[in-house]
Amino acid sequence: IRKKLIAGNWKMNKTATEAAPLAQEIVAAAGRNTDVDIVVCPPFTALETVGKIVDGSSVKLGAQNMHHEASGAYTGEISAAMLRDLFASYVLLGHSERRSYFGETDAFINKKVTASLKNQLKPILCVGETLAEREAGTTLKVVQTQVEVGLEGVSNDDITNVVIAYEPVWAIGTGKVATTEQAQEVHAFIRELLTKLYGEALAQKIRILYGGSMKPANAPELLAQKDIDGGLIGGAALESRSFLELINAAA
Ligand code: 13P
Repeated sequence: IRKKLIAGNWKMNKTATEAAPLAQEIVAAAGRNTDVDIVVCPPFTALETVGKIVDGSSVKLGAQNMHHEASGAYTGEISAAMLRDLFASYVLLGHSERRSYFGETDAFINKKVTASLKNQLKPILCVGETLAEREAGTTLKVVQTQVEVGLEGVSNDDITNVVIAYEPVWAIGTGKVATTEQAQEVHAFIRELLTKLYGEALAQKIRILYGGSMKPANAPELLAQKDIDGGLIGGAALESRSFLELINAAA
C-alpha cells in the first residue's frame, strides 16, 4: 500500500562540482523507475546543480534543513521559498546531527515542519533515541515526544505529505545497524501513535523510513518489515553503486 522511499542524505559532503557526476549516475541508473520514490539531499550549495540534473527524472530533490521564517534578518539561513525556487520537493528536518550539534529542539523543529508544509515542501521528520536513552529504557518515550511535538498543528490534510525517519542515533555512521526487531518495534510504535493522532486510514498511508548504517547487505531484511517503508541513507548514498543497490532492494 505504501510506496517505498529511498532518500540519500549527503550531509556536508560533495561540492557542486563533485555532486554533479553522482547525481548523473543516480539518474541514469534510476531511469524511469516508478517502483520506488527516490530522493537525494545534497548540501545547499549543490541543490541548484543537482536539481537541474534530476529534473525530468524519477529522482526528487531534497534539502537537509531550512529556517521556518519566510524571510528576514536570519544570517546564514535558508527559507522554504528559496528551496522551492530551486525545485526542492522534500526537506530533512530535525536530523539528530541538527539536534545534537546545533541545539535544535522539538518545538523549533515543529515550526519548520509546519512552515515546510505551508510551502508545499514535504518534510522528512527525523526522530530517534541516543544510546544512553536506549540503555535507560526510554526509547519509546523519547520517540513519542519527538513525533508528537514535531507534528503539532499538522492537519489531517497535510499529514500524508509528511515522512517520518526513525534513526537511532547510536546507529548513525557507526556501522552498528539496529536489528530488524529493534527497528520494527519502534516503527510499529510510531504507526500506532500516528493512528491515535490521525486515525487508522491516514496512519496507514504515512511512510516511516529507517536510517542508521543502512547498507545493501542489511537493507532487504529491514525493508521487509511491515512498518519499514524505506531508508534514509548517509554513507552508502555517497557512492552511486551502493545507493542504487539500496533502491533495487526497495523495488
Ligand atoms: P549513515 O547511513 O551514514 O549511518 O547515516 C544515516 C543518516 O544519518 C541519514 O540521515
